[in-house]
Amino acid sequence: MTVITRFAPSPTGRLHLGNLRAALINWLHARANGGRLLLRIDDTDAARSEERFVAAIRDDLAWLGIDTAEEVRQSARFDRYEACFAQLVAAGRVYPAYETPEELDLRRKVLLGRGLPPVYDRAALRLSEADRAGLEAEGRRPHWRFRLDHDAPIGWHDLVRGEQRFDAARLSDPVVRRADGSWLYLLPSVIDDIDLGVTTVIRGEDHVSNTATQIQMFGSLGAALPEFAHVALLTGAEGKLSKRLGATGVDEFRALGIEPEAVVAMLARLGTSDPVEPILDRAPLIEGFDFARFGRAPARFDEADLQALNARIVHQLDWNHVADRLPEGMDRTGWDAIRANLSTVAEAADWWRVVTGPVPAPALADEDRGFVRQAASVAESLDWDAGVWGTLTAALKQASGRKGRSLFLPLRLALTGRDHGPDMAALLPLIGREPALERLRAAG
Ligand code: GLU
Repeated sequence: MTVITRFAPSPTGRLHLGNLRAALINWLHARANGGRLLLRIDDTDAARSEERFVAAIRDDLAWLGIDTAEEVRQSARFDRYEACFAQLVAAGRVYPAYETPEELDLRRKVLLGRGLPPVYDRAALRLSEADRAGLEAEGRRPHWRFRLDHDAPIGWHDLVRGEQRFDAARLSDPVVRRADGSWLYLLPSVIDDIDLGVTTVIRGEDHVSNTATQIQMFGSLGAALPEFAHVALLTGAEGKLSKRLGATGVDEFRALGIEPEAVVAMLARLGTSDPVEPILDRAPLIEGFDFARFGRAPARFDEADLQALNARIVHQLDWNHVADRLPEGMDRTGWDAIRANLSTVAEAADWWRVVTGPVPAPALADEDRGFVRQAASVAESLDWDAGVWGTLTAALKQASGRKGRSLFLPLRLALTGRDHGPDMAALLPLIGREPALERLRAAG
């Protein structure tokens, strides 16, 4: 049986970190099993769904490298929902209810006041034909509830949470359709999962109680159950996830110079028993993917960890991968010389300016100025090849008796204008003979 997973965002806003993680886990599970991931756009709410968010969802997934086999839109499937709805009404599994939100709220409060669970009392099931006609004559339109079977035990083996059991009698019959005819998410989702042959429903643990009611919906439509995996939610370093990372999609990551590979490496492992590592290649992430490795405790997301991971990803990126984002003229040799010093690819431009110059002449102590003048004349007489930094410093060590920091630092300052940076052995050939001699002379 081919594994089919689905990522089902509502296009009412940008994807947040939790959504991206759900998308990735669905993708990894599909990949790990030679299966397929579907993108389901949950746009039944016409008032709140927007095309620009649909486009942003596609872009964000593409940025992360999460490809989907197919895209389905709930708004294109209303006829199908209507047909299933009619079938469930005829079978008595969906029934009309007329309470107003205020009435329901009052009843909930009364139950809570008595220390009872606020479960819907099914008053609507006791209405006669005449009662209903009366209410409709008053202008009331019904909303629709799914009648849970109180005698059927609800249970499933969750791939993350293990054995799950619910007592249907302690759950409210869920509202599946509003009085204006619009759909709530629960029933259409089940119909889609059946029709699309979804084998594994993977989502956040905030959906566990939805699953309890949806399990009976699968049964009521004569369908077998898919597998379920509810992953623990993400929390921020200080409890809640920050609003910023909670709501801006991947734009915030891009603005911070975070590579998609870093986001993937982190989200694939966060909350699992495997360490988060700077893994550039997806193959090991896919091969090692296993729900058994996911913990039940909330996973802690720390932006500083992501930035540190990102630097370690950047250090591994091949020039081909970043060439179109590098400054004019920065070739493979330039990238290889500099990348180990970067936290983000964008910082390459800054170091490249150090190579191309001009660099500010540093204010050196008198004795160091003498030393760099000496360096200029030694450098002038050398063969300017790839090993020039080694030859230059060896010759200067002999000639000046300097070593360590007092040998290297004045040279670095004179040649780059900075006291730290990429390996000088790689940098000096890039700077080139004439500019290097000029810089040494200027600093002296
Ligand atoms: N549209 C729902 C949500 O974003 C889908 C949940 C599900 O995966 O079934 O929460």
